[in-house]
Amino acid sequence: MKLLLIQPKLPESFWSFSWAFQKIARDKRSPISPLGLATLAALTPATWDIRIIDENVEPIDWDVEANVVGISGMAVQFPRQREIAARFRERGCHVVVGGPYASLCPEEYSDVADTVVAGEAEYTWPRFCKDFEIGLPNALYRETGNVELTDTPIPRHDLLPLHHYQSVAIQFSRGCPFRCEFCDIIVVFGRKPRAKSLGQVERELDLLRRMGVRNVFFIDDNLIGHLPRCRELLDFLDEYQKRHEYRFIFGAETSANVASHPELLAQLRRANFQWVFIGIETPSRDSLLETKKEQNTRLDALLAVRRVYAHGIDVYASFVVGFDADDATIFDRQFEFIVESGIVVASVGLLLALPRTPLYERLQRDGRLKSFDDAGHRLWNNLLGTNIVPLGMTDEELLNGFQSLLLRLAADRVLADRILNKLNRLGAIPISFDQPTLVTVTYLARFLLHGLIIGGPRRWYHMARSFRPTLRRPRLIPFVLMNWVQGLAIRSFVQQHSKLLERQRRITHQISPARHRLENVLYSSARPS
Ligand code: SF4
Repeated sequence: MKLLLIQPKLPESFWSFSWAFQKIARDKRSPISPLGLATLAALTPATWDIRIIDENVEPIDWDVEANVVGISGMAVQFPRQREIAARFRERGCHVVVGGPYASLCPEEYSDVADTVVAGEAEYTWPRFCKDFEIGLPNALYRETGNVELTDTPIPRHDLLPLHHYQSVAIQFSRGCPFRCEFCDIIVVFGRKPRAKSLGQVERELDLLRRMGVRNVFFIDDNLIGHLPRCRELLDFLDEYQKRHEYRFIFGAETSANVASHPELLAQLRRANFQWVFIGIETPSRDSLLETKKEQNTRLDALLAVRRVYAHGIDVYASFVVGFDADDATIFDRQFEFIVESGIVVASVGLLLALPRTPLYERLQRDGRLKSFDDAGHRLWNNLLGTNIVPLGMTDEELLNGFQSLLLRLAADRVLADRILNKLNRLGAIPISFDQPTLVTVTYLARFLLHGLIIGGPRRWYHMARSFRPTLRRPRLIPFVLMNWVQGLAIRSFVQQHSKLLERQRRITHQISPARHRLENVLYSSARPS
């Protein structure tokens, strides 16, 4: 049997960092390796030939010989996932789709896939393989219970071109105890966190160490979802890193309450965590309560971010606009919070209602959902629009305010201010990426050309400003550089996104060219300087 597993291309987003991969770290092509497909490969019978193609790293080989083609995908990949499925089906392959979106809406693939694997695949995928071998595959394999993570095998990282990824994804636990209204994770994985054994983690890290991996991202929905298990993991990682001379640099997703546990932050630092990603979403308490993200209301968000910085750990975060409690003042409030907190990797999106989530069901009841089909599924990327009819402002106000917020945040002056605000709160020096000197020198030369010189005098001034604290603490230089690379990558994305959004607004509202030119002039005051 020949199995081809495909990860469809992701649309450009805050997390693509395309500018950084095209201009600076040209040996990298994607931020994170596709862990789901590597896990699926490990669940496949040993007698099958397996190939994984990640379209974010290499083009799809349409002529490859395969009996079965498995295509994964999140909601944002849905249109591309369908295209790929249809094309391979035409060629006579048995097409299987899976992943987060197929788990939520298996019925949306009935015309392009032979089989849908919905939910966690540890028990269902081996069943499909057996059925396929005897020529009796079903149309749907749905996991209805919860998988014991101690049953999950070590993913086949060896089938991936790991040198092309900025970080290699691994997972310790699934599920999150919280109940944010918009979250699809708890719909698919449940609210009771389940974890692997420490022995499993050790074996996986040993494999990655042998493969020369340095940067590892724990893609757990919430690494601290089960605090006692997380503490055990961090103690183990601390000891593992000591044993292996701090071989790995880690990153993880955690909920904001990580800042309420100083000992946990100290443990993260001891285990060599460079950054944590936190879903801050909004500085508005009313919006947090509305979306049932009460855990974020228990500690002031600014204080929480600063507590993390105090341990020398960087914070990446997501922000959302368009809650029912949001009115037109939310854009300024978000802007002020993001600048004040110093967060550079700040992903700002419109609130979107994914099918099967409590938010979707509430808005459906209230008749406040728009059809995705109207926009040809472009809305799946919550950067170009939303399927929600907003309450506190008009569609136009929401989209204009959102676009203007992104552009304001992307200005060089604002990037420098954020970096300075962060540096002011740093306790320990954050962990830097560890790479050979030649690579560092090459990256630096490219950064000077593409990041500094091309930016012009205004950027030189703001960059110089942001480096001032390094006169006293020169070991901060790599950290400041890294923040500029991340900030400029996001800026480049925002500029592209802004053009796309303007084009969409013209089409959607059929704005006359003259009015559009006038709006361009008005908008230009908000453009990055
Ligand atoms: S904290 Fe994150 S993972 Fe947990 S329910 Fe909320 S959005 Fe989902």
